Amino acid sequence: MSTSPLDLAGIDDLLSDDEKAVRASVRQLCADRVDPYVADWFERGQVDDIRGLAKDLGSLGLLGMHLTGYGCAGMSATEYGLACLELEASDSGVRSLVSVQGSLAMFAIWRWGSEEHKTEWLPRMAAGEAIGCFGLTEPDIGSDPGSMRTRARRDGSDWILDGRKMWITNSSVADVAVVWAQTDEPSGGVRGFVVPTSTPGFSAPEIKHKQSLRASVTGEIVLDGVRLPDAAAFPDVRGLKGPLSCLNEARYGIVWGALGAARSSLQAALDYANQRIQFGKPISAFQLTQQKLVDMNLEYTKGLLLALHLGRRKDAGTLRPEQVSLGKLNNVREALEICRTARTVMGANGISLEYPVIRHANNLESVLTYEGTVEMHTLVLGQAMTGHAAFR
Ligand SMILES: Cc1cc2nc3c(=O)[nH]c(=O)nc-3n(C[C@H](O)[C@H](O)[C@H](O)COP(=O)(O)OP(=O)(O)OC[C@H]3O[C@@H](n4cnc5c(N)ncnc54)[C@H](O)[C@@H]3O)c2cc1C
Repeated sequence: MSTSPLDLAGIDDLLSDDEKAVRASVRQLCADRVDPYVADWFERGQVDDIRGLAKDLGSLGLLGMHLTGYGCAGMSATEYGLACLELEASDSGVRSLVSVQGSLAMFAIWRWGSEEHKTEWLPRMAAGEAIGCFGLTEPDIGSDPGSMRTRARRDGSDWILDGRKMWITNSSVADVAVVWAQTDEPSGGVRGFVVPTSTPGFSAPEIKHKQSLRASVTGEIVLDGVRLPDAAAFPDVRGLKGPLSCLNEARYGIVWGALGAARSSLQAALDYANQRIQFGKPISAFQLTQQKLVDMNLEYTKGLLLALHLGRRKDAGTLRPEQVSLGKLNNVREALEICRTARTVMGANGISLEYPVIRHANNLESVLTYEGTVEMHTLVLGQAMTGHAAFR
């Protein structure tokens, strides 16, 4: 029986021993490898030894952990979700590294790549020896990827890629990029390409001055006449189905991950409130503070139940895209609200990087926007409810 103040509903009792073991091992890795350093990384906007970190994540089986074969750990969706929660309790940037590697770049290759793509990249990516990125967003194109301007044109049997991608996690440190581009093929539109970042014409300048996800590498991708062999293209997928299938995987991880940032902030606020004395007693003894703590805990608990429900559906093969939208929209929005409320409990100290709360809140501003904005997921759910697509 769970008696933790953050698990009043006893959700822990719904987890198997294997699931708890995965959670404990990720928690330990974060305690050793991330927590002592991450506020400093955030402050400097620089993750020290990101390649070493990727290898440590890989050696625990966290990269592409829900994929099978090719060196991937083949764990369940629920275990993957629990891992995302623990990683994001440390920092959304570290969870982003894992999500983009496993659910975007590796999943794209695993699901849509040729046998050669898989054997060439997946084992090294699973081990953290090669880092991947996923280029969909462009400077002028975000929520509407069907209008992308990056072009792939034929030159003999080769492809030539030209264009720019923007806001791409990991791009400046990546060894391989999955790039989506518009083609002029009669068989239809957008195709995905596996692009080694050493290919001439490929560059990935880092984006500076972010005030969110500062412990995460974000860059552009510039494609200037990048020549690729025919075999670089994903053979069997055409149109937005390709990238959207990958985004759905990564969004599922965010449903869980955002709750990690929320839990960390709630725990920090609770600890602080128990120690901070004002008017002669701990601020946790005031009804108004208890109201905040309870409201945060309620939303965290509801979010966790939703994540677990969606995880069980994913493991059963019955999870639908709009259900992922529902989880992503609710859990990120509520997690951000929890962080903001936790910040108020901590008064002025709440804005200091000595505590994790303002870092989590700032990070969640990105999480609220990437992998589909609140507005886009609202429209997905509105369509599921009414049958009317209100996107344009
Ligand atoms: C830190 C970070 C990392 C990222 N990593 C990646 C990555 O690895 N790969 C990648 O491809 N992308 C990545 N992104 C990009 C992210 O996916 C996009 O920012 C997101 O899709 C939104 O696109 P946009 O920023 O261009 O906003 P826009 O699409 O321009 O939207 C701006 C606003 O308008 C609203 N809006 C747009 N259309 C409608 C409509 N029809 N109805 C109502 N409201 C609407 C949006 O909801 C939003 O509020 C990352 C972003 C960030 C911040």
